[in-house]
Amino acid sequence: MDFEFHFTDELELFRREVWAFINENALPEPLPHRLLTIPLPEVYRKGREVQRRLGVKGWFAPNYPKEYGGAGLDTEHCLVLSQEFAAIREQGRWGPMSQVSQILTAGLMAFGTEEQKRQLLVPLLKGDWEGWQCFTEPEAGSDLAALKATAVRDGDVYVINGTKVFVGDSPNPVYPDFLYWLAGTNPKAPRHENISAFFVPGDLPGIHFHPLDLVSSVTGQKWEVICEDVRCPASRMIGGEGKGWQVSQAPLAMERGGAGSAVPRSTFIPRLINYCKKTLRNGKPISNDPFLKDLLVELYIEYNVERLWGLRNFAMGKGQIRGVPHTMTQGMLHGKRFSPRLGKALVDILGPLSLVDDPELQLLRGEVEYFVRNADCTHPGGTPEMQQVMMARALGLGRGASSRKP
Ligand SMILES: Cc1cc2nc3c(=O)[nH]c(=O)nc-3n(C[C@H](O)[C@H](O)[C@H](O)COP(=O)(O)OP(=O)(O)OC[C@H]3O[C@@H](n4cnc5c(N)ncnc54)[C@H](O)[C@@H]3O)c2cc1C
Repeated sequence: MDFEFHFTDELELFRREVWAFINENALPEPLPHRLLTIPLPEVYRKGREVQRRLGVKGWFAPNYPKEYGGAGLDTEHCLVLSQEFAAIREQGRWGPMSQVSQILTAGLMAFGTEEQKRQLLVPLLKGDWEGWQCFTEPEAGSDLAALKATAVRDGDVYVINGTKVFVGDSPNPVYPDFLYWLAGTNPKAPRHENISAFFVPGDLPGIHFHPLDLVSSVTGQKWEVICEDVRCPASRMIGGEGKGWQVSQAPLAMERGGAGSAVPRSTFIPRLINYCKKTLRNGKPISNDPFLKDLLVELYIEYNVERLWGLRNFAMGKGQIRGVPHTMTQGMLHGKRFSPRLGKALVDILGPLSLVDDPELQLLRGEVEYFVRNADCTHPGGTPEMQQVMMARALGLGRGASSRKP
């Protein structure tokens, strides 16, 4: 298997064009990491303008078909875009999303009608719309099928009631253009066949938004959203009545890393190692301490496992190598188990300063404090226990196991 990427002269020219755009639209100065995760509203709004500019070029959805607002680019061009965005993010100078969220598009691509794709997918791929994935409820997280939100048909609309928690990502008070909402439409139908999926317009009367203050900010500002007799047009149902479970599986697969990643999600660990080599403690580089040296080696290995599995999943997604059923769950489970260990290792290596968010004292632009604070936040996209259950099933182990061989 060839893990190398080869770029032609034409691709290198494209890289220059991309970098020129990025440089023109990047933040002039790096921002502390916390302010990139939950930006101030004005920075967020400027970021949305940049998203739209990306959308005009088709680069907000580079691999999607042109007819829906993408750029129809091949893998190599998409990879160049990903690499250049990763480079500017590493500098802390990029606030906005650089690509449309597949969590929002996957179900629509797979189950939307042609008309829905034109009406709902195009503004998403052009960077005009932002939506929130509203699946989790106070009593339905891991067991999503236990959700209690309801949608009752009344002529041309569905009347929606229910509460979702831990959803959204925009900073207060920025509200979404739509809610990607799951609700029960038939209380008499069996579990999994009673749920429908909606793209509820975000400005309908009866929608109430309440920001949630969490210790973690791993996926931005979180919200509770309550729908009270919200009259959602029936045309906003995706995939038909009772098909919500199937529609929700496509975004969940994406959230679990289904598409893989050709570029590491973060290069924090190599930068941490550099920091420890250059920073003196008691007159000697931090990395000279034998115990800490061992810890840094462990972190570097884990970083590479994640990076290489991301690459392998990417190659599987593109059909370059044969796929295996448990591959995305495996990567996600590994990441979720590594996260608490990383948090503890950072405190061991860097001491109390790893907990400090003060702009004067924070380490590596606040990224250290960010990773320590978020270390135990392993719930987004499903808890480690749930990944373990799915992994076991994919290996043919336990209840409901598939008959596949590992
Ligand atoms: C920062 C953050 C961002 C999030 N973003 C979103 C979002 O954008 N949209 C959205 O819809 N949701 C979002 N969520 C919600 C997330 O998907 C849920 O927290 C997750 O699915 C777990 O559900 P729960 O919190 O209800 O925990 P529960 O399901 O109540 O689980 C509690 C504990 O019990 C364990 N457990 C439950 N069932 C089993 C079992 N059968 N076997 C073994 N152990 C079990 C779990 O692993 C967990 O440790 C987010 C959560 C967080 C923290």
